[in-house]
Amino acid sequence: MLADLVEISCPYCGEALAVEYDPGQGRRQSFEEDCGVCCRCITIELRVDSRGRIRARTLTEDGTSLD
Ligand SMILES: [Zn+2]
Repeated sequence: MLADLVEISCPYCGEALAVEYDPGQGRRQSFEEDCGVCCRCITIELRVDSRGRIRARTLTEDGTSLD
């Protein structure tokens, strides 16, 4: 399994994080990762556009996005 890195910022503390994801899982993915700084659970929604660029959206546990 090949993992790639995507940069996000934590929706709780704002820290920039690089998280691993698996590009083989498709163009739309949703997964969870714990913030390495504040240790809270971040929901990450990933989308790969037609040019192969990654758009990441982060949500808190209650579904709030600060983007
Ligand atoms: Zn955090």
